[in-house]
Amino acid sequence: MADTTEVAIIGGGAAGCATAYYLAKAGVKATIIERDGVGSQASGFNAGGLNPLQGAGIPGPLGPLAAESFRMHLELAERLPEESGVPIHFKTLTMVSVAFDESELRDMSETLEIFEAAEGFSAHWMETSELLELEPRINPAAIKALHTHGNASLTGYDYTLALCKAAEGMGVKVIAKAVTGLKTSGARVTGVVLEDGEIDCDSVVIATGPWSGDAEEWLGVKIPVQPLKGEIVRVEPVGDPLKQDFSGAGSALYMRADGLVWVGATEADEGFDKEPTQAARKKLLDGAFKIMPSLADARVVKHTACLRPVTADWLPIVGLVPGWENAYLATGAGKKGILISPGMGKATSDLITQGKTDLPVSGFGLERFA
Ligand SMILES: Cc1cc2nc3c(=O)[nH]c(=O)nc-3n(C[C@H](O)[C@H](O)[C@H](O)COP(=O)(O)OP(=O)(O)OC[C@H]3O[C@@H](n4cnc5c(N)ncnc54)[C@H](O)[C@@H]3O)c2cc1C
Repeated sequence: MADTTEVAIIGGGAAGCATAYYLAKAGVKATIIERDGVGSQASGFNAGGLNPLQGAGIPGPLGPLAAESFRMHLELAERLPEESGVPIHFKTLTMVSVAFDESELRDMSETLEIFEAAEGFSAHWMETSELLELEPRINPAAIKALHTHGNASLTGYDYTLALCKAAEGMGVKVIAKAVTGLKTSGARVTGVVLEDGEIDCDSVVIATGPWSGDAEEWLGVKIPVQPLKGEIVRVEPVGDPLKQDFSGAGSALYMRADGLVWVGATEADEGFDKEPTQAARKKLLDGAFKIMPSLADARVVKHTACLRPVTADWLPIVGLVPGWENAYLATGAGKKGILISPGMGKATSDLITQGKTDLPVSGFGLERFA
């Protein structure tokens, strides 16, 4: 006889684990089915930035969900480590964007205006002398810098794991298997098919990131989510840890909880290929050396590559699959999937349990691509 669950969540990334977490809070015991390990894909190897003020669709259609999700992250930072036993290394941070060329100042002026206008955030220009006083290891060829404060970051893998562990503590099950299909009856999904068995369910959530298109065959609908490869190189800082994050010359230096500087991140359309490349490593490190020349002596500790799930309009897909009564999508979060995962997860949970949500996800349904 098949196992049963109220909600089968396919995919144990940030989107799937956040959905499980908020469902569990609402009293629904879901089952996460993950084929490669929780947080084993992009959710485990991202930069962990939570900037709600800028990015694809922000300011713009993604702005309200980004802002609400940022607020939810502040709450999660307070309670998730305790609920899960997993520290997520949430921190409010200072990012200093370093300009080497006049042409870079226009974008930085826009950032200045955006940060100055947002409550809880601040920004100001720095002359090169102030910059070098703040961090003497920065390249003195810098012509100016923008100091922003109020953005936050966490460790993506720990955060995803924490959501999962907290959900497990509330009765969610995790199954390490691949889903190969769905069982259906009319307009309802009645179960998921595994490599070696089945699980009957009342609802299903497709949270399979860049692989969401695999469900097209199962549901008979087009799910336009594509992979966008991103690489990060982690290096040992030379000297003291950085007190701020820095960006410039096409790279960013993120000081992370493992004591390493994460140099990110590339964007490349290379299909489902996940191999780190020498070209990406060189591009990232060239940018890093330009910001901070002493990093040329730094030891490279790790180099990762993984796939962001992106849609044509850079907005996520959240909601009921058209033509189905109980199949939901929580995917396509692109470059903002850690930031907006609380909003996506809570909205998906609300839609399953109440048929509606107050979160600003209207307009993010699959039907917009029809
Ligand atoms: C280099 C890089 C830097 C990034 N930086 C940031 C950042 O600073 N801030 C930010 O907000 N976002 C960032 N992102 C984006 C973010 O990481 C992603 O948007 C997010 O992790 C996507 O989460 P997800 O759960 O949708 O997908 P995933 O993490 O890919 O999870 C999907 C899961 O589904 C599983 N799966 C797929 N098919 C099946 C199946 N048939 N059966 C069972 N399991 C299946 C996969 O194994 C996978 O674990 C970055 C991404 C990259 C690559």
